[in-house]
Amino acid sequence: MTRVFNFSAGPATLPEPVLRQAAEEMLDWHGSGMSVMEMSHRGKEYMGIHAECEADLRELLAIPSNYKVVFLQGGAIGQNAFVPMNLYRGKASADYINTGEWSKKSIKEAKKYGQVNVAATAEPNGFTAIPRPDTWKLDPNAAYVHICSNETIGGMQYHFTPDTGDVPLVADMSSDILSRPIDVSRYGLIYCGAQKNIGPAGLTIIIVREDLIGQALPITPSAFDLKQQADNDSMLNTPPTYAIYIAGLVFKWLKKQGGLKAMEAHNATKAALLYDYLDTTSFYSCPIAKADRSLMNVPFKLKDESLDEAFLKGAKERGMVQLKGHRSVGGMRASIYNAMPVEGVKALVAYMKDFEKANG
Ligand code: PMP
Repeated sequence: MTRVFNFSAGPATLPEPVLRQAAEEMLDWHGSGMSVMEMSHRGKEYMGIHAECEADLRELLAIPSNYKVVFLQGGAIGQNAFVPMNLYRGKASADYINTGEWSKKSIKEAKKYGQVNVAATAEPNGFTAIPRPDTWKLDPNAAYVHICSNETIGGMQYHFTPDTGDVPLVADMSSDILSRPIDVSRYGLIYCGAQKNIGPAGLTIIIVREDLIGQALPITPSAFDLKQQADNDSMLNTPPTYAIYIAGLVFKWLKKQGGLKAMEAHNATKAALLYDYLDTTSFYSCPIAKADRSLMNVPFKLKDESLDEAFLKGAKERGMVQLKGHRSVGGMRASIYNAMPVEGVKALVAYMKDFEKANG
């Protein structure tokens, strides 16, 4: 068996020990005589897995007790609709900060449910820098302020938590959740699809301050009414049980690695290897302002894009895959989530240097 270094933006590489454990437990989970996939979600075994998964997530992120954790289906794109449905709470409008493709999608969807005020946009700088918070035109009566903490396609990440006063801050953390410690109490709601830093696609996690839920728009589907789901421990309908089980294994793996402080250091080390090299060469370039560069998704371009195909082919021959940038921006993108080992990034930088020598 040969495993590649998989730089996919998501679904993405997972920790090998987690995959091995899942394989071992596939046919018979802890003597139950069945796979987790086959268990009733109301049975004792699964309920235990579910409770432990939530407890470990709460521990990793130090989630305060007045926050609910909800495990849903529907992805982060689903949340683009369910957040406004749940959080407008009779208010006239919500503020959105536009930092790239995923923000744009959130804005477009929210407009179906209420008024949207784009309080700041990175459009004038070509989505290469996050607008400084002192330029944001926030509405003190907004239902919430929405940000995308890490733009997976553009490769731009917040390295600060915006202060939105009494207006709840909502963050799409799909591509940087659990990559570093955060102060959950600074947020009203955090949501993420699981398929980057957590586990298989099909699981969406929402962390929400409990006083913000319970006033969903009447059209909100029951399965996506956060209050109803929170009151039913995410079991108003059948939750994505197998994905939750894998997420639970990843949370245990994270704890074993030393938690989020250790992850932060690990991720900073990897990103520095790439960015430090990118800053010393003109063969490759990265357009993002240094202060806002993503530690999770590193976009870069070859000076001569006619070499793109050869670059990707050579990388594949060395066991490195999924480096092609998103079709909307072109170039390359190395996604280096928690589970990407330092060796993977070292191998990539070594290859980039060799490729430059051969073609520069
Ligand atoms: N937001 C961000 C930041 C993302 O990276 C993605 C997926 N790449 C999404 C939203 C959409 O997630 P999903 O496909 O799970 O709906």
